[in-house]
Amino acid sequence: MTDEAFFSALAQPGIQKLRAYDPGHDLVAFRRRFEGRHLIELGSNENPYGPSARAKEAILATIHDSFRYSDPLGGDLKRALAAKHGVEPASILLGNGSHELLMQFAQVFAGPGVDVVASRFGFAVYAIAAQCAGATLRVAPCNADDHAMPRGHDLDAIATAITPATRLVYLANPNNPTGTWYGADAFAAFMAKVPADVVVVVDEAYAEFVDAPECASALTLQAAYPNLVVTRTFSKAYALAGLRVGFAIAHPGLIAVMERVRESFNVNSAGLAAAEAALGDVEHLDWVVARNAEQRGVLATALRARGLTVFPSQTNFLLTQFAEPGDNARVAKIEAALCEVGVVLRPMVGYGLGHCLRITVGNADENRRLLAALDEVLA
Ligand SMILES: *Cc1c(COP(=O)(O)O)cnc(C)c1O
Repeated sequence: MTDEAFFSALAQPGIQKLRAYDPGHDLVAFRRRFEGRHLIELGSNENPYGPSARAKEAILATIHDSFRYSDPLGGDLKRALAAKHGVEPASILLGNGSHELLMQFAQVFAGPGVDVVASRFGFAVYAIAAQCAGATLRVAPCNADDHAMPRGHDLDAIATAITPATRLVYLANPNNPTGTWYGADAFAAFMAKVPADVVVVVDEAYAEFVDAPECASALTLQAAYPNLVVTRTFSKAYALAGLRVGFAIAHPGLIAVMERVRESFNVNSAGLAAAEAALGDVEHLDWVVARNAEQRGVLATALRARGLTVFPSQTNFLLTQFAEPGDNARVAKIEAALCEVGVVLRPMVGYGLGHCLRITVGNADENRRLLAALDEVLA
């Protein structure tokens, strides 16, 4: 019989057991259903304020040359990023979103017989990347719920999970879906324990939103550790999720090896131009980050006032507990009821957190509408 199982049996062993990344709801279908009415989309950690006006202008300006291939080197954007971060352009790798690069790190540095280490409640892409590469994923335990950073990365446990077979470690700081973070001192102590032949990828997709003083970018340690990689994205604080631009900063030698497998025109011309322009508009970024911090506080307070547990967050989302662990059915009901009134949040069943929902921090109006809908549904 020719079906998915037939072709699955033909696939590489890692892919035979793989389940596709779950993006949540079909939002296009939702938008059609709620046409002409308010749809509050708080499921994908997108930026409600939109990109810099300069980025929008830059996108329009690329239209006439769209018949040409984009710059396969991404030279202008790399130079702009290099100048901003005080590194050489050769230290920068551009991706069709950072998701692409996260996958590519496993393609390059993992494989059958190799261990990849990530944390429990780490970003879902790390497990998929390891599995696609045919590597063995070792999941380190996270912090306990009574820890100051519940469900956050336990850096000691991650260091302990590294074996002689480990070539790759994925961390996220701050982490998605938990919103949690770790401090610079703890990370420096962690890096001191990691062997030089283990590539450590620190996913800093939410770095721009961070305001906790103890939390620093891993970039500050790169001079000391050539095996340390940082990934960033234009999808979140820069509000260019639909254009798919991400990047990695690492030792030029490591980047050169990654470049061997990069698809030549992986970043499109609108994305390259928009990202470069967005990078130049620091004022807009600062404004977005300030609005997010303000609304993150307002929303967390309002959710807690409703008796819900909100986990600490340095991001643009709040992992929120709606029921006792295991009572997934109750939360699925709440989530479905919210969808019915046009409020889309992110179910967490896939992460083993079915009693929680992940709520993107919207703008003031979206957050008000979310809370009003929640009050109706919880009543
Ligand atoms: C959103 C997100 C990304 C970014 O993905 P892109 O492919 O750059 O849009 C990466 N890592 C984490 C943890 C994220 O939440």
